[in-house]
Amino acid sequence: MPPEQNNTCGDEIPCSTDSLQMLAEAGRSSHESEFFNPIPPGYVRGRHKYMAVLGTVMSGLGKGIFSSSLAKLLKDKRLRVAPIKMEGYLNIDSGTLNPYRHGEVFVLDDGMETDMDLGTYERMLDQDLTADNFTTSGQIFRRVLDKERHGGYLGRDVQMIPHVTGEVKYALRELAMKQNADVVFIEVGGTVGDYENGFYIEALRELAFEEGEKSVCFVALTYIIEPHSLGEQKSKAAQLGLKKVMEAGIQPHIVACRAHTEVKETAMEKIAMFSNVPKRRVFSMHDRESIYTIPDAMREAGLDSQVLTILDLHDRVDQGFEDRSRDRWHVFVNKLQSKRKFTARVAITGKYAKIRDAYASIDKALEHCGAHLSVELDTRWVDTTQMDPAKVTGVLEGFDAVIVPGGFGVRGTEGKIACVRYCRENALPYLGICLGFQIAVIEFARNVCGMQEASSTEFNAGTPHPVIDILPEQKKIEGLGGNMRLGGKDVLLTPGTLASFLFDSARTVRGRFRHRYEVDPRFIETLEQHGMVFSGRHPQQPIMQILELPHRDHPFFIGGQFHPELTSRPLRPQPMFMGLVAAAIRHAHPDVPAGEISDRWLPPVKKPTLQTSPA
Ligand code: GLN
Repeated sequence: MPPEQNNTCGDEIPCSTDSLQMLAEAGRSSHESEFFNPIPPGYVRGRHKYMAVLGTVMSGLGKGIFSSSLAKLLKDKRLRVAPIKMEGYLNIDSGTLNPYRHGEVFVLDDGMETDMDLGTYERMLDQDLTADNFTTSGQIFRRVLDKERHGGYLGRDVQMIPHVTGEVKYALRELAMKQNADVVFIEVGGTVGDYENGFYIEALRELAFEEGEKSVCFVALTYIIEPHSLGEQKSKAAQLGLKKVMEAGIQPHIVACRAHTEVKETAMEKIAMFSNVPKRRVFSMHDRESIYTIPDAMREAGLDSQVLTILDLHDRVDQGFEDRSRDRWHVFVNKLQSKRKFTARVAITGKYAKIRDAYASIDKALEHCGAHLSVELDTRWVDTTQMDPAKVTGVLEGFDAVIVPGGFGVRGTEGKIACVRYCRENALPYLGICLGFQIAVIEFARNVCGMQEASSTEFNAGTPHPVIDILPEQKKIEGLGGNMRLGGKDVLLTPGTLASFLFDSARTVRGRFRHRYEVDPRFIETLEQHGMVFSGRHPQQPIMQILELPHRDHPFFIGGQFHPELTSRPLRPQPMFMGLVAAAIRHAHPDVPAGEISDRWLPPVKKPTLQTSPA
């Protein structure tokens, strides 16, 4: 690093002991120095600031929601933000985690399979993230071990400090540079004191020392207990949690107190006293009805302005931009909070039906659409594993729309096929997602094309009609691990179709994929001859990516081989979900005059109109 780039610090930063230059050189050349701290070439100290959010007392405090809301407030001021979730576990990514234990696997555009918190960041910030915004202990260790095998540390014993912590700091600085961030938001998984994240916390302490004053802001998120039997707030657990942070050599700048109800003055005073944090920097972050109101609540409490002061960022704020961003956000929050004009019932099938987190993004996508279309959605999760296909009418009667979401394995699939059949035959709005897209193909092949034993080779390897089969590109790498088609891909839309209507006549759109199986191209012609329309395709290969039934046959029947829920954002709800929800409103309120329900999302009705229910 050229020396002049290092002198960017102000008076209060200890430039005399300018460790960064020393560290950079040591990292590059010397194996004798105690420092081993490679710095990305061209890194300019002072350019990038860091917000580190640490949890104490217990997990599940909503660090991701806190961090993303605060990041949004800064982004709204036209600061560039780059969040990163640092997971303690050793898995390289979240791809192999059971959604039942860990929540949904969130796929990024570049194909990285991450924790569901990345979904929270993407939605809150309306920003696509990359693999650089997510790391696990496994990734960090892998990098260190790979380097060791390639002679990267010759002569040295490789240690947690400085080598592993050095790799963490490198990843953070590299992220800051790559995404040209004014502020990197670092969320460390777990709580302070866990074995798993100890080296992350040490790395952050080192980072703060090296970057100098006004460069790293630590927020300790804690929890104020309010035992029923006492009926008052108790701050001792929070104090002990904060002590843990200080034991790690970190003095928090801000304490955010999670609590069920607003945190009382007395509790805040104690927290301030025992953590050396002035009371103006201790905030009550009590439960709210909607997470979308948190940015405003933070702003009203002055949290954003404290952060700007701590990180010396007031000069980078664009006030006009902030006013406009806030106005747009308020339109959405007002819709979210206002009384809805309509009600509709949506059934979602799934074997993880009891666990909402397993389908968090679907829940969010419906929430976005419900607000925009002014409908109160009553969402029910229908477990198809025990379902008798003959009793499907009893299960789905009274619903206004059905979603068959993504999934793996054969359990519950016959029940899902029965649900799709019911939707197709009873003009019930349907959205199939990934597995739900494939199920729609199987159902159509069986019950419309007459291939009674049609199936996916995922469920029945010996089926005579493998309408869904393993992707040719996946066949080659079967058994090698990591064999899914992942990430954002272009989808070419057919003009004049429902898909094209929903996507505003766009020629191509982007969908996020995570699958191994696809429509076997040998069956496409038969399926089309019987009336199935493949309205979204891979631009070059015969990979079917959106299917639909024409409007003359069904009011709304669509499926995506990708996951539309992953790209729904509060201010830009996903079009296929918008179409489904609009169709659900129409189904629930058939007498409401045309025009009352947003026309934008209801496909124009051509004569002859809907097929009537056979029942
Ligand atoms: N199991 C199917 C496949 O691998 C669907 C995957 C999914 O729904 N994400 O293709």
